Amino acid sequence: MSLERWSADRRFGVRLEDDVLETLRDECARSGHLETGGVLLGRYSSRQDCAVVTEVVPAPPDSSRGRTWFHRGVRGLRALFVARWRARRDVYLGEWHFHPGVNPEPSGRDQEQIRVLAAAASVGCAAPVLLVAGLMPNLVIDAWVAPRRAPVVHLSER
Ligand SMILES: [Zn+2]
Repeated sequence: MSLERWSADRRFGVRLEDDVLETLRDECARSGHLETGGVLLGRYSSRQDCAVVTEVVPAPPDSSRGRTWFHRGVRGLRALFVARWRARRDVYLGEWHFHPGVNPEPSGRDQEQIRVLAAAASVGCAAPVLLVAGLMPNLVIDAWVAPRRAPVVHLSER
């Protein structure tokens, strides 16, 4: 089972294959009652419209978290980005969050964070994806994209 979501105008999409979803589910389950999150790596489809996630990276060790908040750390990410680019031309695609016990809605903080990321030239990603996951008890995921200089766009099931 893969997951694919698109904006209403079909300009932005995101896809996760089964093994990637499995990793995400495991990371969420491991986090219990606390939020967690991390970065998404992968590549764009040949038409450049769909972010194909090949790797859900767990929270860096310098992350901190609580029941309703999460600060993603940065330790180890730069080296990982370089390694993945060299090995398979994979790039940073965005962020994932786990929100325990609630519907997967992005908090105001999340929307702010994804905007900051979208504006950060160092990230080099024109439209980062934000995945928010919940376990209820199965994995449920909602997705947004934050195009540079534009409002956050919800990605829906087709
Ligand atoms: Zn969040």
